[in-house]
Amino acid sequence: MPTPLIVQKYGGSSLATADRIRHVARRIARERANGVDLVVVVSAMGDTTDELLGLAAAITDEPDPRELDMLLATGEHQSATLVSMALHALGMAAISLTGAQAGIRTDTSHGRARIANVDPARVRREIGADKIVIVAGFQGATDESHAAGEVTTLGRGGSDTTAVALAARLGADRCEIYTDVEGIFTADPRVVPDARLLPIIGYEEMLELAGQGAQVMQTRAVELGWVNGVEIAVRSTFSDHPGTRIKEDPDVEQRNKVRGLATDRHVAKVTLVAVPDRPGVARAVFEPLAAAGINVDMIVQNVGHAGATDLSFTIASTELARARKLLDTVVRQLGARELTTDSAVAKVSIVGAGIQNAPGYAARMFGALADAGINIEMISTSEIRITCIIAEDDVEKAARALHAAFALERPDTAGAGATAAAG
Ligand code: ASP
Ligand code: MG
Repeated sequence: MPTPLIVQKYGGSSLATADRIRHVARRIARERANGVDLVVVVSAMGDTTDELLGLAAAITDEPDPRELDMLLATGEHQSATLVSMALHALGMAAISLTGAQAGIRTDTSHGRARIANVDPARVRREIGADKIVIVAGFQGATDESHAAGEVTTLGRGGSDTTAVALAARLGADRCEIYTDVEGIFTADPRVVPDARLLPIIGYEEMLELAGQGAQVMQTRAVELGWVNGVEIAVRSTFSDHPGTRIKEDPDVEQRNKVRGLATDRHVAKVTLVAVPDRPGVARAVFEPLAAAGINVDMIVQNVGHAGATDLSFTIASTELARARKLLDTVVRQLGARELTTDSAVAKVSIVGAGIQNAPGYAARMFGALADAGINIEMISTSEIRITCIIAEDDVEKAARALHAAFALERPDTAGAGATAAAG
């Protein structure tokens, strides 16, 4: 039988100090003693990426995207070398590789590059030489002939994507994401005290939760795992708890139909009051936003009265200033009455693959919010998610009310069986 291959990824908080790096190295060494090959992807230490961004901002308002990627990539270079040295100190054979050395090839979009392919030759060679391979996450190098070998980064949280891409390409037996929480919970445990750790969650459910504010894993990494059938374990660096497995869930029908909930405070609501009700208006509003790369989330257009209508939508609150600038012009051009904005709103979502086959979930959600005295300002749904916009001040109350209404603290009986059966 070939030696099992495990890809592990350690996040920045797990590597924030020399002590933590030594702890991670001991953990890796322990795993290695089980007779497995290991590829370990690392994030930058602690808040290094934010600090490097801050330094660049202190130098210039508009850092050159190429230079910024060269700078940011050094964060992961640091941690990779230090983890490798910590393993050497334990008497283990290890080598650190940059993303480029590890064969991560990307397109040319600096700051948000996509992985085009992974050339696994070097990593395989180092594994063959019995080394633990430490790969700097979050980065790659371009493949295009006109600019080959330029350093790129994959967007915030991109080390998750590095890990899943390597696991897929190397055909790893396991892909483990180590972080500072024990896994994926039914809700944020800081907000909902009886939030429960989920032993298992489907890819699609994880994508919806991550997209609606749950911050444990980068969405793109989950997508990549789904497309390539890579099962991902999310676990704590600081405990031996098995954590949460993200995988296709065969038993979804037998479970609680709501798997978890997510909240997101970083939302702003924009309303164009009394815009003319005629063709082309929505395009006039949303085209400039799209051109500026501003992502629009929920959109509600009211029934028109007397040739005018109100148009509301939500965006990330960090984009509000830019959006307002663009829309002031649009409002004048369209002859709308005014532009109002509200950044004191938040999103609360329930997610579960079972929702699509069961009527009544929306009614139960709205009922629970009504009983808690919470007003719903906007609603949107996908097949497996229902989201409400509410006042930001109500978001914790809403999370607790919904968690109780759907009895998310109760263990899924199917959950235990499915975990054992899949193991
Ligand atoms: N260090 C990068 C970031 O902070 C990448 C990562 O942590 O995954 O976004
Ligand atoms: Mg991260």
